[in-house]
Amino acid sequence: MAELRVFPLACVVQNYAWGKLGRDSEVAKLLASSDPMVQIEEDKAYAELWMGAHPKGDAVILDNRIPQKTLGQWIADNPACLGAKVKDAFQGQLPFLFKVLSVNTALSIQAHPNKELAEKLHAQYPEHYPDANHKPEMAIALTPFEGLCGFRPVEEIVAFLQNVSEFRALIGSVAAEQLERSVGDDPRGVSAALRVCFTRMMKTEKKVFVDQLNMLVKRISREAAEGKDTSPSCGELLLRLHSQYPGDIGCFAIYFLNLMKLQPGECMFLGANEPHAYLNGDCIECMACSDNTVRAGLTPKFIDVLTLCEMLNYTPAPSSSKLLAPTQSRTDPHVYLYDPPIPDFAVMKIELPASNKLYLISAIDSASILLVVQGTATGTSTAAVSEMALHRGSVLFISANESVSLHMSSGEGMLLFRACCLL
Ligand code: ZN
Repeated sequence: MAELRVFPLACVVQNYAWGKLGRDSEVAKLLASSDPMVQIEEDKAYAELWMGAHPKGDAVILDNRIPQKTLGQWIADNPACLGAKVKDAFQGQLPFLFKVLSVNTALSIQAHPNKELAEKLHAQYPEHYPDANHKPEMAIALTPFEGLCGFRPVEEIVAFLQNVSEFRALIGSVAAEQLERSVGDDPRGVSAALRVCFTRMMKTEKKVFVDQLNMLVKRISREAAEGKDTSPSCGELLLRLHSQYPGDIGCFAIYFLNLMKLQPGECMFLGANEPHAYLNGDCIECMACSDNTVRAGLTPKFIDVLTLCEMLNYTPAPSSSKLLAPTQSRTDPHVYLYDPPIPDFAVMKIELPASNKLYLISAIDSASILLVVQGTATGTSTAAVSEMALHRGSVLFISANESVSLHMSSGEGMLLFRACCLL
């Protein structure tokens, strides 16, 4: 009997409160089509689908010859499945966690430490920073997707300081004028002034910022009712975030951070120390295996203001600079590669037209996880003993150096995403 090295996974759903409800959620839709036995509850939040071996959501192997074993247990017993280079570089662990996210209300504004800072924070405050790893993340939109990422160009922040008096009141005129004067200055001067402004906002007394926020919400609501253009104050977004997180300092962060609007297939990369938040939409996400998050607002959770203000990347840059453009494979025109500047993971998007009847998922020197977003096929592999019925929501684990043939019959084409580690 062939050794089993390619198999389907039953993945873990996380029902966090910020997730989309019922069948509005891409996570719920993928779950329902992958398993007809699953009943979707329309008033339940389906926030995340975890495709990986993370201890808080380890996928279960769907093969009756490996009864009830999780992917993490199986990898521990069969570390060669990772590929020699990945196994050595990541101590026998799958280096990434692959996810689908369906975001209804904003997730906290946050940043993730680099490796050096993660080690320090974990040693000092293990209760808040549970591991010593960095946590780069990448989001690829499945539906129109909104987020915040990185500090805006300084001219935009200065314009908000001039248009939004309530925002200026938090920063104070001394710091605001310092930032205004820094426009056109050398980048170090700009970053220093930006750091002062952001830190002032984050350290504002709660009563003061809640008062200013209430005044701002009142003013924008009145202007909107009068039919005025509230876009100079980002009115629509401010009111939306305030309705989700009333009285939260994170509402003001929209004047510092780039608003990202991704179309399906567009991708943003969130490197170390980059402030970011997901606001709305469905996406594919890939990240390094870590839980280290430093929060800045839009959250009821612990906010570590000191660490956050210290660590952030205060380099202003336009939203376009946060996008990661995929590159088309030279050897296979169906494959687009999203390859961020870190070793832990990369994601391939595989788009197969309806005219394709047979397609080979190529062998690579890394374990990979494949998600079917659209289409149906029968999968065969010399490392899977039986045929695998693949359809929307199916997830496959593919060991390093194994390939899978897709026999497509439906005539609708396929859309697949494959996470791997390219060292
Ligand atoms: Zn994050």
